[in-house]
Amino acid sequence: MSKLAAFGGTAVVPREMRRVEWPRVEDDDRKAVMDALDGALVSDTDGVNPVAVLENSWADHFGFGHCVAVSNGTAALSLALAALGVGPGDEVIVPALSFIATGLAPVHQMAVPVFADIDPVTFNIDPDDIERRITDKTAAIIPVHLHGAPADMDRITAIAARHGIPVIEDAAQAPGATHRGRPVGGIGTAGAFSLQVSKNIPTCGEGGLLVTGDAELAAAMRRGRQFGEVIESGRDRDYISYGLGWNHKMNGLQAAFTTAQLARFDEYERARQHNVTTFLARLAKLPGLQVPTALPDTTHVWHILRFRFDPAAFGLDGVRPEALRSTLRRLLRAEGVPMSQYQLMPLPDQKVFVDRLGFGSGYPWSVTGAPATVAGEGYPVTRAVIADSLTIQKRHLNPGAGELLDLYADAFEKVWANSDMVATLAKAASS
Ligand SMILES: *Cc1c(COP(=O)(O)O)cnc(C)c1O
Repeated sequence: MSKLAAFGGTAVVPREMRRVEWPRVEDDDRKAVMDALDGALVSDTDGVNPVAVLENSWADHFGFGHCVAVSNGTAALSLALAALGVGPGDEVIVPALSFIATGLAPVHQMAVPVFADIDPVTFNIDPDDIERRITDKTAAIIPVHLHGAPADMDRITAIAARHGIPVIEDAAQAPGATHRGRPVGGIGTAGAFSLQVSKNIPTCGEGGLLVTGDAELAAAMRRGRQFGEVIESGRDRDYISYGLGWNHKMNGLQAAFTTAQLARFDEYERARQHNVTTFLARLAKLPGLQVPTALPDTTHVWHILRFRFDPAAFGLDGVRPEALRSTLRRLLRAEGVPMSQYQLMPLPDQKVFVDRLGFGSGYPWSVTGAPATVAGEGYPVTRAVIADSLTIQKRHLNPGAGELLDLYADAFEKVWANSDMVATLAKAASS
């Protein structure tokens, strides 16, 4: 048994392998951006421009009916809600575990986010809890395909259909993931993607994409991204706002970069699937460690790898899960594995929602009279997952990360081989 790096032993992952190498920028990306510099820089122009090329490439690659490029993933969610007519007096059901943007988007439309608990294995919104939270004010459901794992779209779309409400998929973390052979984002009424640099298909800055099979909805999204105007090929811009709009356009350089990345996506994705599943197969053998899994008939695209740790399986009954987690974080980080937390609290605990820091005097909540969320209350599964899990982010996305992941697995095995030390430290941290 080798000595833990936290106590003076040699770290498993050498320093020179600890740089984040995501996104991977190659010559094709550089050339695409330079070429775009000589062309149309924004999407408000008629004809072929890098933004339209990206929209068509994305729709073709994954098989979506329509694609509308926007400035970022948060704007995509807000625009989808706006295009569907969601507004003051409405409620939108979102998961209690997600990136903050999922909870903010309804508020941007003056609608109230209503949080639902998650599933302990997929970490995605729990359909039973959606059902419990539907009211006559529910105007949309936003399931998130969190960490790259498809949400339970069969049940979610069935619930939505029964109540006649639209489903907007937050697919920011899951481009390329499939559910029963269908690409996520294209299963509900609309889907939103993010091209932010840490995502599986990045741009060189900020970007987002909306997809839908509904031509009229796509047209409403296009108006929404550009001041409410209608921009059509072969027709002069008339500068008339046909409805409320924003300026959520994408620029040409970022579109060109992503189109170049998209051309390599399948190759990257194949390498990632191999690297990550090999890594997880090794970790799955360690007692007390729950590795992420893909549900039957779905493809997980492993945007974030979340591991849960079970104190009882370490023989640590009564030890707080946070104590075991912080012990493992310390020991693994010392070995060079950058274990981190993703989301420090359930979304309903965020100050913006607890203190109702929306518009004016407590809007939109004062419109519906919804009870305030209370920090520390409810959402038991989300709380348990946040308390007993850690994540690996970005490092594994590089298609060349296979060797690095082998070292990560060595580091986990080394820490588990020192389980007596883990137990001693976790007990001390728990008291
Ligand atoms: C990144 C992300 C967003 C927001 O996308 P931005 O492009 O950063 O605005 C929304 N939802 C989820 C789940 C995300 O991970």
